[in-house]
Amino acid sequence: MGAIRASSRMATVPLNPPTSPLQRLLQLSHDLGREDRKLAILGEGNTSARVAADTFMVKASGSNLATLGAPGVTECRFSDLAALLKKKRLSDAAIDEALFAARVDPTAKKPSVEAVFHAYLLTLPGVNFVGHTHPVAVNQLLCSKFARTFAQRRTFPDEIVCCGVESVFVPYADPGLKLAQAIQRAVVAYIKRLARAPRVILLENHGLIALGATPESVLAATLMGTKAAEIFVGAAAINGAPRFLSAAQVARIAGRPDEHYRQKALGL
Ligand SMILES: [Zn+2]
Repeated sequence: MGAIRASSRMATVPLNPPTSPLQRLLQLSHDLGREDRKLAILGEGNTSARVAADTFMVKASGSNLATLGAPGVTECRFSDLAALLKKKRLSDAAIDEALFAARVDPTAKKPSVEAVFHAYLLTLPGVNFVGHTHPVAVNQLLCSKFARTFAQRRTFPDEIVCCGVESVFVPYADPGLKLAQAIQRAVVAYIKRLARAPRVILLENHGLIALGATPESVLAATLMGTKAAEIFVGAAAINGAPRFLSAAQVARIAGRPDEHYRQKALGL
């Protein structure tokens, strides 16, 4: 019976799920890069995975999510990139130099310029995988006056389950170091206020970041966030604005905040 069930589910669940961090990262990248999902095209988007306490793997610059292979992934040291977050002003050349210097293997490709925010997010408690995409449906809202509202409000229960009580909202920032610093500021404020881990970060005029313990949770948050965006746009088209769930309805689905998480994430 197990075999029958497995074969009927083959279209969505691989029979032999990948187990190494690299294989899981490649599978997540292929899932996010699927053309029919309209989450990323060409070289858009990037993914990362924690490998050890001091290193992580991130998509290399110029690679394609849909077809990503091992040579398109670069292992980097957290410490080299985390140090960048504290720098006030850094030239593009200096950032490039730091990206190259962070590689574990000096012959590996240059990591994505977004490796700095991946390094930061992968150091949050319980985060082992990060996926960043530019979904058409989500960007319809992030490139509109509804961007912040879409991040802060919820329209249906499964959106809360997969994407959290709110998404972190990050006002537009120049991709690279400035964006990584803006993400860090917004995530710290979110954890201070809500005492829980963010599942989704929304970047104004740019795209979506999902983070989680597993590739499955990153994919779920991305797909559900994209579905929520489609519903928001449809409801707004009919009615001018969606009917949002109330704060009490959101709290009922989400449960209590975790003080322990706040302390751990903020190093208190
Ligand atoms: Zn991007």
